[in-house]
Amino acid sequence: AKVAGRGGYRFYVEEMTAAAQEKLRLRGRLAGALERGEFRLHYQPQVDLRTGRVLGAEALVRWPQPGGGWITPDQFIPVAEESGMILPLGEWVLREACRQFARWRERGDPDWTLAVNVSVRQWEAPHFLAQVTEVLRETGLPPARLILEVTESALLHDPEGTQGLARELADLGVRVALDDFGTGCSSLGQLQRLTIGQLKLDRSFVGPLSGWPRDQAIARTVVTLGHWLSVPTVGEGIETAEQLGVLRDLDCEVGQGFLLGSPLPPEEFESRYLHPGGG
Ligand code: C2E
Ligand code: CA
Ligand code: CA
Ligand code: CA
Repeated sequence: AKVAGRGGYRFYVEEMTAAAQEKLRLRGRLAGALERGEFRLHYQPQVDLRTGRVLGAEALVRWPQPGGGWITPDQFIPVAEESGMILPLGEWVLREACRQFARWRERGDPDWTLAVNVSVRQWEAPHFLAQVTEVLRETGLPPARLILEVTESALLHDPEGTQGLARELADLGVRVALDDFGTGCSSLGQLQRLTIGQLKLDRSFVGPLSGWPRDQAIARTVVTLGHWLSVPTVGEGIETAEQLGVLRDLDCEVGQGFLLGSPLPPEEFESRYLHPGGG
């Protein structure tokens, strides 16, 4: 909100204080939420834009609240990152999602890929590679079925560490996707040295897509970059047929968004995509 006059300024300060208090409260409740088993995962389909086939899903964490409703990850993930709680939470997400996918593989499409979000804090933890190796062994999910989504900011934060880890993960057979791509402005030189498996075009560039060349500038550039790097691009946040059409025309390989399928709890994801048509 704009700050107007003295009263407005005081209002702004009070608002900040309320936000800070709210954050503190959140932090306290978050602390025990994992032990209490309060988190859930939802799965959003990722679709081959040429064939319409479901290629797999992205796991998205959910924190339902006792009175109904939920606190969104955009609210609690930053708090969990600040407190360090993201480390056990992220490990739970990875293990739970891999377990789910290993189970689905037995009954569904064995080629399905699972995309898991990894926070920078996890990415930079010294034991992360060992943790991924252990979870894959434990759950039986083949490494080639796992994609780790890390935001572009991790690359900016520690380019060499990121390059090393991405290479080691690739040796293991696990792919790395650069999430929210285009928002962080990585240097193209860094990108060239990175062993990367996917670019995820941020939805802020998908939203404005229209027939006008100017509205397509970033999307076109990212998809083309992906082609030159030989990695597929995932268009995020596809909500309209027009956006879908433009991405298809640009030869964007994969799509994700409410138009193609919303994030669903496992039971619903299963009945919709594992047993289409019921049964
Ligand atoms: P993200 O990784 O970019 O995930 C995509 C977000 O876009 C999800 O929000 C998804 O529900 C939403 N979305 C999907 N399709 C559409 C669409 O067509 N339109 C719009 N407007 N939104 C769409 P969600 O689940 O609320 O997650 C928000 C962010 O929280 C994620 O952004 C990710 O950065 C973070 N997050 C979620 N789960 C995890 C997790 O398990 N670990 C970590 N570290 N971060 C997570
Ligand atoms: Ca993501
Ligand atoms: Ca994203
Ligand atoms: Ca995001």
